Amino acid sequence: MSELRIDLFSDTKTRPSPAMRQAMAEAQVGDEQADEDPSVTRLCELTAEMLGKDAALFLPSGTMCNEIAYAVHCRAGDEIIAERSAHTFNFEGGGPAVISRAMLRPIDGKRGLFTAAQLEEAIRPRSQYAPRSQLVSIEQTANMAGGTVWPQALLAEVTAVARRHGLIGHMDGARLFNAVIASGVPAHEHAKHVDSLWIDLTKGLGAPVGAVLVGDTEFIAEARQWKQMLGGAMRQAGVIAAAGIYALEHNIERLAEDHANAKTFAEAIADIPGIAVHPEDVETNLVFFDVARSGQSIEEIGAKLRVEGIRVSPAGATRLRAVTHMDVTRDDVLEAAAALDRILRGG
Ligand SMILES: *Cc1c(COP(=O)(O)O)cnc(C)c1O
Repeated sequence: MSELRIDLFSDTKTRPSPAMRQAMAEAQVGDEQADEDPSVTRLCELTAEMLGKDAALFLPSGTMCNEIAYAVHCRAGDEIIAERSAHTFNFEGGGPAVISRAMLRPIDGKRGLFTAAQLEEAIRPRSQYAPRSQLVSIEQTANMAGGTVWPQALLAEVTAVARRHGLIGHMDGARLFNAVIASGVPAHEHAKHVDSLWIDLTKGLGAPVGAVLVGDTEFIAEARQWKQMLGGAMRQAGVIAAAGIYALEHNIERLAEDHANAKTFAEAIADIPGIAVHPEDVETNLVFFDVARSGQSIEEIGAKLRVEGIRVSPAGATRLRAVTHMDVTRDDVLEAAAALDRILRGG
């Protein structure tokens, strides 16, 4: 197998930079489980402040943030509403069913977004027969639907319906900062619409481990107990929290580069015969393209790219995803587009 040179598989593939590693090496540490790690405390304070919430909790992953938020907000049998392409439905191993014993109710949205009317329709009338509609989860950005950004007006409308029916608003902010950079709207404005949310440090922000869950003080106190129960409480976690602090201080503004590179890639592959892509829909760092009409399978195309040291990810029967991130340059995406062009023209 040739050396992997251009990894467009996911923005989780970044490696900590030398400067980030330096920050990790110099981190002040303590026993995180006993709330004695100064770097973890600082990361939590910084995140809570950026998101305009009372308190924060450092967790090993974004998946654990979702599971714990549901566990705090829901009782067994409650229904969690989310768009059909949401991470929660597809990539969490059935976690909500196991940990919260909650039901999941999908909404078929458009590019990962749904309307206030669609939410209204999905919320069940209170009755002894129906599960209790308890929480709506909003993915900002909507990952598998194209990295779509929820506009503020839509967020306001949807969460107003949720509130009116007594539902909790939760945001899966794995790529919240991509939405912040793409929209120019600060993080706390996105956050103000929901009761709880989290950010991933390991996507575009480039840290090796961790996510931060935020909400009000009572929510975070309960979340802390769930963290203990699930075995997510750590010890000298300042080593990894320092990477998160570094990421928040240095790696947010530069997401604009990833967005520009994603757009460049989408535009560069738009004219390749057999590829269907909509560059105008590329708002952030995720590019989805369909190869149904190329006469080649996604496996074949993936394998041929891999021979050239380039990797993309499967995203459906005939769809591939390319993700830009800090370890990918403009030249890299142009090279990947040229390789795709050769492969699909059979050259
Ligand atoms: C990656 C991702 C998650 C899970 O985060 P991990 O840190 O990988 O557990 C959840 N939601 C979305 C939208 C994601 O992209």
